[in-house]
Amino acid sequence: MNKPAAIYTRVSSDRQKQDHTIASQTAALMEYAKTNGYVVPPEWVFQDEGYSGASLQRPGLETLRDLAAQGQMATVLIYSPDRLSRKYAYQVLLTEELSRCGVEIVFLKSPAGGSPEDQLVVQFQGMIAEYERAQIAERSRRGKRHKAQQGVVNVLCGAPYGYRYMKKTDTSAAYYEVLESQAGVVRMVFEMYTKQQLNIRAITRLLNQRGIPTRTGKTRWERSTVWGLLRNPAYQGKACYGKTEQRPRQRITRALRQRNGMPKRSNSSGHERPRSEWITVPVPALVSEQTFALAQEQLERNKHHAQRRTLEPTLLQGMLVCQKCGYALYRCSVRTTRRRLYYYRCSGSDAHRQLKGALCTNRPIRQDYLDPLVWNEIIRLLENDTLLQAEIDRRKEAIRNTDPRQQRQETLRREQARLGNNSERLITAYQEGLLSLSQLRERMPELNKRAKTVEAELQSLET
Ligand SMILES: [Zn+2]
Repeated sequence: MNKPAAIYTRVSSDRQKQDHTIASQTAALMEYAKTNGYVVPPEWVFQDEGYSGASLQRPGLETLRDLAAQGQMATVLIYSPDRLSRKYAYQVLLTEELSRCGVEIVFLKSPAGGSPEDQLVVQFQGMIAEYERAQIAERSRRGKRHKAQQGVVNVLCGAPYGYRYMKKTDTSAAYYEVLESQAGVVRMVFEMYTKQQLNIRAITRLLNQRGIPTRTGKTRWERSTVWGLLRNPAYQGKACYGKTEQRPRQRITRALRQRNGMPKRSNSSGHERPRSEWITVPVPALVSEQTFALAQEQLERNKHHAQRRTLEPTLLQGMLVCQKCGYALYRCSVRTTRRRLYYYRCSGSDAHRQLKGALCTNRPIRQDYLDPLVWNEIIRLLENDTLLQAEIDRRKEAIRNTDPRQQRQETLRREQARLGNNSERLITAYQEGLLSLSQLRERMPELNKRAKTVEAELQSLET
């Protein structure tokens, strides 16, 4: 293995008396290169003697950066990060720049991460990377928005059923191509819904009976797929950009409750944005605007007449779980000749929800039987003083064991440390010229305010 590598050394005048002379640095690096299978061409030994590490204007360094930019080298050997620069911001800058050129930097004496300065470098790198990521994300979002406003299909992610997404080439922008076989199905679905007045369930059943493949090639259509199809404005020639956005979760569903609350990683979910904010991108239409509008009216009407539409909430809806199959029970209703009857029904017993038919044979339970049963039991429990007292004691004990006060204190102390780090980083960034004074002025008050709040709460907990 003879990997070509460059060597960079620097000594400022004030350090020359110490033993880190240019010669000793170079010798150490040469030795390292030899034992690790690097070859160092003589013209790739860059030395800056008598140059301060506080400045980037050094002839050796300039040449090194030029060569790196030309893509000539793969590795640079350097004695330690402070040889690259005395300023941490510059260290980060140079490491970033070189790694962008595909150059790996090998420090003979890399910071062990122990001293506060080293930690600062690590933090700094994180901060700059974070800033860059945010900047890139924001630029890309703005750019996409702008493109969408100009009607460029590129910004849409893929094409819906009925179209094929043709990628952009050097000569043409991306576009939707109509897939006739699927487009026929789309037109048929709209026709069945608006003209024949079939409901979504009937349409889904028909599609499945005829064995019409879905986009993924499966032969099974879901009602939600058909519903989504009827709502998609692309079919009237107006594909939309920015229909949804990620926002923090609003509702804790039963599945989440069973998993003990929020998922750790993704406390967000897709939400539909207001229709007025959607940006329309023209695509080939499959149905007329009139048909599409009819379908929307029908969907709106159906929402009002849906079986599951809850006008009066019932005691147990959203709380019951089937003992047999573990699926949730939902409330549904049946109209008899005389009145409307409400039931709690196991969703596992619905054949249409499962690929292989119903999973559960449990019968629906009438709401007017179950609600009083549960309610009476609750009353009985609440009237039993000893039972109640026992539960209160148990909870008190549990709270004592966890000591929320202590937990809160710990959380606050961590927050305090974090805020302290943040403001220190901001100040350093300002000192290194990475932030302007106005940017600093903008960010510091908020940090200070939060720090004061935390401080106040800590004090109140400690007294
Ligand atoms: Zn069940």
